[in-house]
Amino acid sequence: MTRIRIATTSLAGCFGCHMSLLDMDERLVSILEKAEFDRSPFTDIKHCGSCDIGLVEGGICNEENVHVLREFRKNCKILIAVGACAINGGVPALRNSFQLRACLEEVYLHGEGVENPQIPNDAELPLLLDKVYPIHEVVQVDFYLPGCPPSADQFFRMFNDLISGNEFSLPRKLLHFD
Ligand code: SF4
Repeated sequence: MTRIRIATTSLAGCFGCHMSLLDMDERLVSILEKAEFDRSPFTDIKHCGSCDIGLVEGGICNEENVHVLREFRKNCKILIAVGACAINGGVPALRNSFQLRACLEEVYLHGEGVENPQIPNDAELPLLLDKVYPIHEVVQVDFYLPGCPPSADQFFRMFNDLISGNEFSLPRKLLHFD
């Protein structure tokens, strides 16, 4: 039997959405009978290959996030924004009220306990964007899974719907945004 291939990533996220996915506990076994993971924090695969479903946790805060998100969009038939951060920027988007330069100076130059103050500028580091963006501002999104994080019941419902080819819909009692 060909298994559904699923990729997951955390961009400007806290990995809480991934932890909630794992909160499906033993129900994960029934999902993994029909699905397998491609690139994900759960695997050692470095790039997203051709997949049926891509789950994106976190908004977009730096240029590497943009690169990874575009790779997911290119390779995943269905792309899902998972959690408040991917949907609307979430808590990290609170920095959008401030100038990026002011944030960097506060943390690296004037922060409590800072020694040898300097703003990191190694070329290996991805450049921060001026603001934190929801992923739909960069690529087209097919579905949204709300919550901070979405519950394990939401993940289970979503996987079952998508794997069985049903239309994905969440009953009202499973919807929450906190
Ligand atoms: S939505 Fe909440 S749990 Fe998910 S990555 Fe953002 S802060 Fe973490």
